[in-house]
Amino acid sequence: MAREKKAENPRHAALDLTADEFRALGHELIDQIAGFYESLPERPLTRATDPDHVRELLGTSELPERGSAPAELLAEITPLLFDNSLHNGHPKFMGYITSSAAPLGALADLLAAAVNANLGKWELSPVASEIETQTVRWLADFIGYNTDCGGLMASGGNMANFIAFVAARKAKTPWDIRRDGTYGDPRRLTAYVSEETHTWVQKAADVCGLGATGIRWIETDGDGRVLVERLREQVAADREAGCLPFLVVGTGGSVSTGVIDPLRQLAELCRDEDLWFHVDGAYGAPAAALPESPEDLRALRLADSVALDPHKWLYCPIEAACVLTRDPDALKDAFSFRPDYYLFDASQATGIDYYEHGMQNSRGFRALKVWLALRQAGREGYQASIRDDIRLAQRLFDRVGGHPEFETHAINLSIATFRYVPPDDGPLTDDYLNELNQALLAQMQSGGELFLSNAVIDGRYLLRACIVNFRTAEADIDALPELIAELGRAAHRRLQGSR
Ligand SMILES: *Cc1c(COP(=O)(O)O)cnc(C)c1O
Repeated sequence: MAREKKAENPRHAALDLTADEFRALGHELIDQIAGFYESLPERPLTRATDPDHVRELLGTSELPERGSAPAELLAEITPLLFDNSLHNGHPKFMGYITSSAAPLGALADLLAAAVNANLGKWELSPVASEIETQTVRWLADFIGYNTDCGGLMASGGNMANFIAFVAARKAKTPWDIRRDGTYGDPRRLTAYVSEETHTWVQKAADVCGLGATGIRWIETDGDGRVLVERLREQVAADREAGCLPFLVVGTGGSVSTGVIDPLRQLAELCRDEDLWFHVDGAYGAPAAALPESPEDLRALRLADSVALDPHKWLYCPIEAACVLTRDPDALKDAFSFRPDYYLFDASQATGIDYYEHGMQNSRGFRALKVWLALRQAGREGYQASIRDDIRLAQRLFDRVGGHPEFETHAINLSIATFRYVPPDDGPLTDDYLNELNQALLAQMQSGGELFLSNAVIDGRYLLRACIVNFRTAEADIDALPELIAELGRAAHRRLQGSR
């Protein structure tokens, strides 16, 4: 029907589909995806580790001059992706901090793209913007933060932390930094973070004009927790030297070992010193929803801002992150400009125009997958899943601890760190064990059976399993020590042979 209309009015619409065409393509694709989910445990976790091979699979590198039939395109790209991706949804994927993605999230992204709401301006996305507002409030509620906070969805933990950094900079500078930048005062803006803080802070300090030397990396104790007294001394010394301390970042679950800073003490220090207290909870914030979580983590409720990452421990498909600010106006204060091509009618009741609250202008409907996930699982469903991840990480830690060929390092939240140590070989140097574990891990990551990543602590190269994966079960955990030990023995033989 639509096709006939087009013939009368022959405009070019190279990308349009009729409803029937869309239906047929969509049904076929959904069937393929359902089969993919079902087959995940049996699939090699990864196969494509050689860029040249992948480029070859992808075929011609020229921009096509002529179009192709969508059915052919989907039939081509679907198996290519299924067969040559790294499957972080595999039950034995425990690398980095990347979760299995909730299947409902995939449908949510499809639906969001179909509606194509633009969450920059409320009028362009009435229901969607209200869903984002509700999602922000629910996330705050879930982690125990005040629900009358400000906040918005961001692409990832980096961007969520970044937005908080800018808000802190605006809130704590006594001059008009939005007009004069860092030139408004000779004092050097200075931020305080622990040695374990994620690399986002370097990018933020760089882009925000502080420069990397505007960051003070404060020493940690033997467990990797920031030394609060060292921080206090550094702030005093810096004030003395003519700097302007403005921000302390506490980590709620560090990226390498899951360590939690003493957030309550940091909050008190920030109150005493009039500094902005930000908590990077990109990994660990959802664990604050468990009543049995350490008080140090649950103290994130005292922060001026919190970054969290639903695409990590809330199992949403990438991209989905969120930043929360205690002061509901903090983001608008930091980001709002009002150009005259947007209509502002003071007489009208309006919702939030999110473009004023962050760095993006046009904004996608990331909130939908998070909102649906929160409704599908409910608070209780999420608590149970997170608790299971923690229990399984502990189980893995206990299993490797009971195995003669492993040395354990630490277990925090759902991250277990340990290393392979070959038996009966007399004392081996740390250098050799580092080389051995690195070789073991390289073999594992290209082998396709299981996937861990690494941490380097006090010069020791460790294997690191992070479980934020609702598909991982006890049987997967119990199989792990022997699988890793076999790789370790083989790597040890190879290294010995090459000596
Ligand atoms: C993962 C992580 C980040 C970065 O988050 P992305 O979503 O990868 O951008 C920042 N901080 C911590 C503690 C993290 O674990």
